[in-house]
Amino acid sequence: MKILFINLPYYGHVVPTLGIVKELINLGCEVTYLLPFDWEEKVRESGAVFAGYANHRQLSEQIKNAYAAAERMIDKFDLVVYEQFFFLGKHLAEKYGKPVVRIFTAPVTNGQLMHEFINAKGPLSVFKHKWIARAFTKDIAKGIPMKTDNWLDEIVKNPPDLNLVYTLREYQPYEDEFSEEFFRFLGPSIYERKAVPFDFVKGKNPVVYISLGTVLKGAVSFFQNCIEAFRGEDVDVIISVGRKFKRKKLKNIPSNIRIYDSVPQLEVLKTADAFVTHGGMNSVSEALVYGTPMVVIPFVSDQPVNAQCIEKLGVGRKIAYSKLNAAALKDAVFSVIRDKEIRKNLTRVQERIKQAPGNQGGAKMIMEYYEKKVKACSKR
Ligand code: UDP
Repeated sequence: MKILFINLPYYGHVVPTLGIVKELINLGCEVTYLLPFDWEEKVRESGAVFAGYANHRQLSEQIKNAYAAAERMIDKFDLVVYEQFFFLGKHLAEKYGKPVVRIFTAPVTNGQLMHEFINAKGPLSVFKHKWIARAFTKDIAKGIPMKTDNWLDEIVKNPPDLNLVYTLREYQPYEDEFSEEFFRFLGPSIYERKAVPFDFVKGKNPVVYISLGTVLKGAVSFFQNCIEAFRGEDVDVIISVGRKFKRKKLKNIPSNIRIYDSVPQLEVLKTADAFVTHGGMNSVSEALVYGTPMVVIPFVSDQPVNAQCIEKLGVGRKIAYSKLNAAALKDAVFSVIRDKEIRKNLTRVQERIKQAPGNQGGAKMIMEYYEKKVKACSKR
């Protein structure tokens, strides 16, 4: 089977999907992954064939470019897989009579959850203004028949038959609204990643890992609070400040704290005793996989909802950014390290993750769905 994967160039939306790509290839599929040209190396590491489109700093232009490129090649493929934010994936596939599967790298949204994401600040918050959402949609979807006039409503109200979600069902907010028939929860995307050299060696002290992900640019005051929280404490601290942050802005760093632009997070989480995170979906999933207690400081988009889930599952604690200071952070980190209940809950979640379908199960679901569709067509 020849599969066309379509995605937009956002790290957290692409990287988890490379796991299912590998599994589809293991099952004998030929996968072509369509992304902007600068993603070629990452795609090739997964074993997929790369196809490119021109990148752009605006989301609307990225979607248009992806659609135009996909339309030029779709004839050669048996099935289309797309990540939710390429919201025209279903329309494109239907136009050309191809079966289609959607993937979510964040929780799947109903109307209420989408409303919460939009109202949580961040890149989606501009679409609070319905007229902006409509104008954005109209510009992209010219001539494409839509069920609604707003791309975010389209994501919620116009699902394809098979939707694969990279989280556990018990983690999903409003989970009762997503029937098993159409929405399958794979659990986090776990797969072998390319090894990245890293110079940190765990000693006798607990390790605290701090990161705000790849999109947010942390403030100097935030990282300086982190440094003061653990100055002179019997812990080793790894802070990943992100590539957009100028490290030399941080002053007076004690020897138990190491600052990096970026770290191999999966390797670090294996040894970390606590993870201070912004609550990005990938970071949370990875911490659950490795059983790392979290202190979450949510900022935008799905992060506040993820923070609520962390508290609901009992695997960490939340601190509002407005209440953050060195003493509060130190207190929260030491309390999650000591908390036996959190450890127990993490072990339970880790067990559930082991039983979840994962990328292997997801790849089989795609194959089965395709076979069902082909059979249904041949009966007609
Ligand atoms: N990450 C990493 N090294 C770092 C910081 C982050 O490898 O130093 C990875 C992390 O493992 C995760 C992703 O970047 O897979 C961050 O995704 P997430 O959804 O948590 O946050 P976002 O960057 O989308 O806000």
